[in-house]
This record gives sequence, C-alpha cells and structure tokens, in this order.
Amino acid sequence: ILPLKTIDEVSEDVEKWASQKKEELENLRRNEAFRKEFLLNLSHELKTPIFAVQGYIHTLLDGAIEDPSVNKMFLKNATKNIDRLCRLIDDLDEISKLESGEMTINKELFVIQDLIKDVFDTLSLKANQKDIKFSIKKGCEAPVYVMADKEKIRQVLINLIENSVKYGKPDGQTIASIYNMDGKRVLIEISDSGIGMAEEHLPRVFERFYRTDRARSRDIGGTGLGLAIVKHIVEAHDQTINVRSKVDVGSTFGFTLELGKEN
Ligand code: ADP
Repeated sequence: ILPLKTIDEVSEDVEKWASQKKEELENLRRNEAFRKEFLLNLSHELKTPIFAVQGYIHTLLDGAIEDPSVNKMFLKNATKNIDRLCRLIDDLDEISKLESGEMTINKELFVIQDLIKDVFDTLSLKANQKDIKFSIKKGCEAPVYVMADKEKIRQVLINLIENSVKYGKPDGQTIASIYNMDGKRVLIEISDSGIGMAEEHLPRVFERFYRTDRARSRDIGGTGLGLAIVKHIVEAHDQTINVRSKVDVGSTFGFTLELGKEN
C-alpha cells in the first residue's frame, strides 16, 4: 500500500506544477514577442531595397532613361539595392539554419593565425580602399592550434573583420590578438580604431537587426544579421563572445575557442 500524501505535500506539488506552467507560458509569450518583432523588422528590411529599386525603375521609365547624365547612376543604384537584398537573403538562410538546429559542428585541428591571415587576404581590397591596416598583434604570432569548425569560424572572422573595416575610420587599423586563457581555451580578439559604440548598445548588438545607427549600417551595405550569426556559431561551439567599445576610439570583439591538443 502506498503511503498517502499529506495535505502540505499535495499543496506543495500543486504549487510546483503551477509555477512550472507559469514559466512555460512566459516562455511562449516571449517567443511570440520575438517572432512578431522579427517579422516586423524583416518586412521593413525587405521593403526598403525593393521600394528603392521600384523608384529607380519608375523614374527611368518616366523618361530618365533618355537622360545620359542620370540613367547609368539610377541603374547602378538599383543594382546596389538588389545586391543588398541578395545579402539579406543569404544571411536569413544562414540564421534560419542556425536557429533550426540544423547546423552541425565539424571540428578539426587548425592554426588560428593561418585562418586569420586568410581572412585578412580575402578582405584586403576593402581595407585598402579605406587605408586600414590589418595585423596580428606582436607577441601573438606563434602558431596556436584550435579545435573548431574551420569554415564556421572563417564566417565568424569574416563578419567581425568586415565590421572592423565598415565601422573603422580611414587610415586606421584592425588588430587580431590570440591569448591562451586557462590551458583549455584561447581568446581571439579583433580590435579596431573605428567609430565605436556607446555603452548602452553593447548588450544588444548581437540581436538580429539591432544597429546603433540604422541609416549608416544600410548605407554601408549591412544587413543587421552579421553579429547574430557570429554569436550563434560561437555558442554552438559551447564558447562565449563579448564586446567592449568606446565611442570614437574603437571596438574589440573577443570570442573563445577550444585549445587544440597539439599545443
Ligand atoms: P550590420 O550588417 O548592420 O553591420 P551586424 O550584426 O554586423 O550588422 O552589427 C550590428 C550593429 O553593431 C551594426 O549596425 C553597428 O551599429 C554595430 N557594430 C558592429 N560592429 C561594429 C564595430 N566594429 N564598430 C562599431 N560598431 C559596430
């Protein structure tokens, strides 16, 4: 025969059950609010370039096509907006894969400095256009092996280093530093001498579509999804990312990775 529960025990069970349900409901509400905000942002992000393309085409059809002083420029601007739409769709694809848990992390051993140099090469044209110098910090050159998904970490580095150029001041620099943290992890930091960000933005920059300056981000071709993608990838490796920044001085994004056994 099972012992009967006391009234106190039963009421404790009921309270536990009720607080669990309350938490579930709160989670659902929060998710719903996130979903609504995401859709609202997304439709706005899609509309802006589409309306711009529509505007240029209408103006051309209304006669501007005959005017050689503007017709090429309007077509170029339309193309720029279409490029932005394509980038947005690529980033959305990436985000939805990451969020649906479809992403698999295929870890391999590699030297992080080699990957950083590779990404510096990929982005050198953009950096040259603003006279921004790329370098690895003095003292951080000795090869450090990490255990991570190389292609995903390449994406992380591309997004961070590309931002350091986009938000970097002309004639400035981007410096990558590598630190051994505790014998198990390495910290990789990407620092720029750019426009920086005010303290109040820092907790939110990894949110989808969050920007400190919407117009500036759009102008320079941003989708507002780059850092959200970065955070997803780093967290899928069970690692962490953070940022510190000072307006008009620059920003430093730092993320950790698992140290490889070869070190
Ligand atoms: P975006 O496509 O707008 O660059 P991100 O997700 O990459 O989107 O970045 C979000 C926002 O964080 C940017 O719009 C910008 O306001 C800010 N930000 C990101 N990186 C930097 C940086 N290195 N310096 C200053 N601001 C930055």
